[in-house]
Amino acid sequence: MESKLKLYNSLTRRKKIFTPLHPPYVGMYVCGPTVYSEAHLGHARPAITFDMLFRYLLHLDYKVRYVRNITDVGHLENDADEGEDKIEKKARLENLEPMEVVQKYLNNYLKNMGQLNILPPSIEPRASGHIIEQQDLINKIFDNGYAYEVNGSVYFDVLKYNKKYKYGKLSGRKLEDLKTNTRTLEGQYEKKNVFDFALWKKAASEHLMHWRSPWSEGFPGWHLECSAMSLKYLGEVFDIHGGGMDLKFPHHECEIAQSTAANGKESVRFWIHNNMITINGQKMARSLGNYITLDDIFNRKNNVLNRTFSPMTVRFFILLSHYRSTINFSIEALIAAENGLDRLMKAYETLNKITPSTISTIDIIKLKEKCYAAINDDLNTPILISYLFEGVKNINSLYDGKEHLNQDDLDLLKSIFKTFIFDILGLKIERDKSTNDEFVNSVIDASLNLRKIVKQSKDWSTSDKMREELNKIGIIIKDKKEDVEWELE
Ligand code: ZN
Repeated sequence: MESKLKLYNSLTRRKKIFTPLHPPYVGMYVCGPTVYSEAHLGHARPAITFDMLFRYLLHLDYKVRYVRNITDVGHLENDADEGEDKIEKKARLENLEPMEVVQKYLNNYLKNMGQLNILPPSIEPRASGHIIEQQDLINKIFDNGYAYEVNGSVYFDVLKYNKKYKYGKLSGRKLEDLKTNTRTLEGQYEKKNVFDFALWKKAASEHLMHWRSPWSEGFPGWHLECSAMSLKYLGEVFDIHGGGMDLKFPHHECEIAQSTAANGKESVRFWIHNNMITINGQKMARSLGNYITLDDIFNRKNNVLNRTFSPMTVRFFILLSHYRSTINFSIEALIAAENGLDRLMKAYETLNKITPSTISTIDIIKLKEKCYAAINDDLNTPILISYLFEGVKNINSLYDGKEHLNQDDLDLLKSIFKTFIFDILGLKIERDKSTNDEFVNSVIDASLNLRKIVKQSKDWSTSDKMREELNKIGIIIKDKKEDVEWELE
């Protein structure tokens, strides 16, 4: 398989043709969320970026093992080695078990991801389910001499590591700068140097989540889970590691150090980072309090926007910018995305009404080549979308009879639109939820009546098939004891 996909590697700061280590298999790891509050727009960007990459790799016929983790333990406040665990803090506030907090916000996250048409990853491992693997990794790092223990906590010896391997490669930070710029927090007297980071922390008496270990009753450091779980599911060296740009330091820098210290080699071939979403020029983040939740955008009127926007509008809005550029969030930009998406989907509908001619006056092969060139150029979605809009213009001229396409070219144009809009960009046709279309209602009711008959004859497989088919077009069927309820997705 010959690949033309060029990806920018954050580590080498260069674009390079992507070829998998073990074709046709691709191993991809993306840092998922720490689940302690409702999913927000900042979660949507990495999810959509890596979903699009996942979809494109599948389109290129690779077999992809896509691992996206769930952080449910060890992520302390301010991403530091001290302070309260983010999930435990929320558990205290909401008077819940920490795992209830995790489940509650994980359900919310996965619901939002489904609304955004994000394909589920192949594996979604949780940090708390991989304590043994994390302890094994600490032992390896210990054996190789890059860890030390103080009072039951284990820290990574950055200075020693830096002598053999260079620390700070990914983020471009230097140890001297880190030494002077890192604030000394309570508890850091334990560390040899402020830039050392925790692999294992001894739990304080009030700490809720802790496990037995050779060092203390405690919990793993935040960075460790990704090294341990990528090693477990993707091996010592794998193809792609992704995440938001804000994770480059310290999280990914520490991951590189841990994996290299344990295995003697770097584990990631391509580091890919998406840029941030800004609002009024400032990064949108939960910690800054200027974020907007996805439920607010999709379902609720709120203070930032005085109206709602559909999930596909949000997806399209994010894809309108290249993943390495910042996106400035504004209601005007969302409205522009909504209008653009509407034009694109209407053109797709029009395309199916066009009758072929005996001649072709437009070069459709050229359009296809340009679309592939754009996506192959480091997933350049804004350029790709501009070519799709060239296609929209063509469709309108064809419909007006100003241009012509023969059957083959018309089929090719349809396949370009289908492939890029639905398969790769991952957009889907949305139905207006507020619609109270009597005709639609009666068609659904008629289908459900037929299904009732099928069920009465105990033909369960046909009844399941009918439910699946309705599900595919966005009609969710809920079987109740006596009755059947339905709703639009
Ligand atoms: Zn991670």
